[in-house]
Amino acid sequence: MIELEKFDKMYEGKAKILYETSDPNYLIQYFKDDITAGNGEKKDTLAKKGIYNQSICTTIYEYLSECKIDTHLIKSINSREQIVKKLSMFPIEVIIRNHAAGSICRRYNIRKGHKFSTPLLELFYKNDSLNDPLVVDALVTEMNWCDNYELKEIRQIAHIVNHRMIEFWNQYNITLVDAKYEFGLDCNLKIILGDEITPDTQRLWNKEGESLDKDIFREGNDMLKVSSVYEHINALINYQSIGQSHNPDYL
Ligand code: C5P
Repeated sequence: MIELEKFDKMYEGKAKILYETSDPNYLIQYFKDDITAGNGEKKDTLAKKGIYNQSICTTIYEYLSECKIDTHLIKSINSREQIVKKLSMFPIEVIIRNHAAGSICRRYNIRKGHKFSTPLLELFYKNDSLNDPLVVDALVTEMNWCDNYELKEIRQIAHIVNHRMIEFWNQYNITLVDAKYEFGLDCNLKIILGDEITPDTQRLWNKEGESLDKDIFREGNDMLKVSSVYEHINALINYQSIGQSHNPDYL
């Protein structure tokens, strides 16, 4: 691929920045050190988090690409940045839950850890000022957030991604509890997996049921512990051979 020049900032979110580039079909995605919870109500900065997440995300998207899943990742270009395909994003967050945790437990008073007999897919309208509310399919299509055909395909792809991610984490004796995925259309109107997959967007439990993800930050204030979990996940999937998984010392 030709060398891309980094242009102006196109969008800044809570954890990443997107920059335009000299090629209108590609963006540069930069991973920040900021960490937030509760739609930005709790905020902090975690040294090197952007580096860990960029590296984790690259490994996961390369794995998904080997599984024949189309992702926006073209390549990682440095410790914090990736070249990604420019997508027109659907304003929807697709959450797939294998076990109950987080908002679904609060919403329906479900026991944390309950295993769903079939992975449960929920759609949320991506809108910070409304706190990303849960939506039903009929509203998604009524509001043209995507059409019926796209929604069907998004559901199918999300289930395949979930299945592949369960297999991925299983290699490390980690349970994929739930995850959030975002999709968009590329310049050929193909549905592509965008955004990121990291411990910010997935719940991961070890065999003891301990969290190895952003729940450590959501539920506590020990920033050293949060940092060591992100560092541990990065080391586990990038620097250790499978089977050598171990917990960080504090766990
Ligand atoms: O908040 P909730 O329990 O519904 O989150 C389900 C999953 O989706 C979690 O893994 C969480 O990290 C992820 N999520 C996310 N971004 C959001 C909401 C949820 O990555 N805006």
